[in-house]
Amino acid sequence: MIHAILPVGMLQCNCSILGDEASREAIVIDPGDEIDQILKILAQHKLRVKAIVITHAHIDHIGGAQKLKAATGAPVYMNENDAPLYDALDTQAGWLGIPTPERTQIDSPLRDGDSLQLGPAELHALHTPGHTQGSVSLWIPLENKLIAGDTLFRDSIGRTDLPGGDSRQILRSIHEKLMPLPDDAVVIPGHGANTTIGREKQFNIFLRNL
Ligand SMILES: [Zn+2]
Repeated sequence: MIHAILPVGMLQCNCSILGDEASREAIVIDPGDEIDQILKILAQHKLRVKAIVITHAHIDHIGGAQKLKAATGAPVYMNENDAPLYDALDTQAGWLGIPTPERTQIDSPLRDGDSLQLGPAELHALHTPGHTQGSVSLWIPLENKLIAGDTLFRDSIGRTDLPGGDSRQILRSIHEKLMPLPDDAVVIPGHGANTTIGREKQFNIFLRNL
């Protein structure tokens, strides 16, 4: 599978571009910004976007969704529990002091247990609330990879002090949904460097008391 990770925007959100070599179909996860760059990578690999997936409705992850949808026609998937946060996009833009991006319609509610097909691979949606109420992580068994959004980071976990955050809930989500994954599963967090489930089990101090 093709997997390009592009840090986009002021907060350097890791946008994942997943592509199937045979069908040339692609899924773009968290197109927060820099849609021109994302389109360039898609064109380089001759990929056609079949789905746009949002791990959660923070502006740095969803800000470019409208623009990417307009350019590709692909449907947008997001967990419905983050709808109120998306409705508050102007408030979020105010936090960062940036103009409010145009918003898009959410085409499909991404629920726990839903899966998306990309060539031979399946992307399983795991509802992992805590950073936000609609936070979703995507588990790709065939690739042994987890796209974690802002739930789990290398040496850290997502902040829970913003509206919709819940510090107990994020730990429960990580414990119940992410820690059972294989120790050698590669984790691609919403920001910063990759890690593995095993590494975080061993070194992440936020997970010590689980
Ligand atoms: Zn976030």
